[in-house]
Amino acid sequence: MSAAGFLTVAETHPACRVLGPGSRYVVWVQGCPLSCHGCVSPQWIPFAGGHRVAVAELAEEIAASGADGLTLSGGEPFAQADALARLVTTVRARRDLSVLCYTGYTLEHLRRTGDAGTRDLLSEVDILIDGPYVAARHGDLRWRASANQRVHDLTGRHTAELAGPDTGGGLQIEVRPDGGVQWLGVPPTPGFRHAFERALGLTAPRPRRGPVTK
Ligand code: SF4
Repeated sequence: MSAAGFLTVAETHPACRVLGPGSRYVVWVQGCPLSCHGCVSPQWIPFAGGHRVAVAELAEEIAASGADGLTLSGGEPFAQADALARLVTTVRARRDLSVLCYTGYTLEHLRRTGDAGTRDLLSEVDILIDGPYVAARHGDLRWRASANQRVHDLTGRHTAELAGPDTGGGLQIEVRPDGGVQWLGVPPTPGFRHAFERALGLTAPRPRRGPVTK
């Protein structure tokens, strides 16, 4: 967990087109108190690790990016709710980006038990995708991995986009200048990640909803 002026970040991407409407800056935070069986980014579950980042600096970078929106994932965003709420308000003081946030908790749980930081972050979120990952219910669904996870249109900002087909949001596969390959998005099948990495001859465990970096 971090003080509100700092975040512990696992990874970022400035232009992701498969984790919410339009082109989005994505912040994957480090650390999750849940342990969903089959979590595709288990290396982001420990709270030890990641990079300590000043909220003000990250907000500056996000606001200066060409992104249409900001997606918060992880890890568990609500484990760093204070700092993420501050991140969003700082970005929005510069530019009114839409905000999509993932959480392994249900919306009802957050509303019932959440502290001030949780309430502050919830009040900034346009789309909340909630619930733990349940491998037995994995599906090719828009922006989420299992059928128990719900897409909450909290503000109406994206109601038109959300009315579209609820089928896979696709994957974004990139080759970096150093030759490394990375993918972003929600895997369409439970075994996708391992099959993809085997096909590329990759061996190290790599993330979900986020980059595979060689
Ligand atoms: S799937 Fe999400 S909520 Fe579940 S352990 Fe992984 S990061 Fe945490």
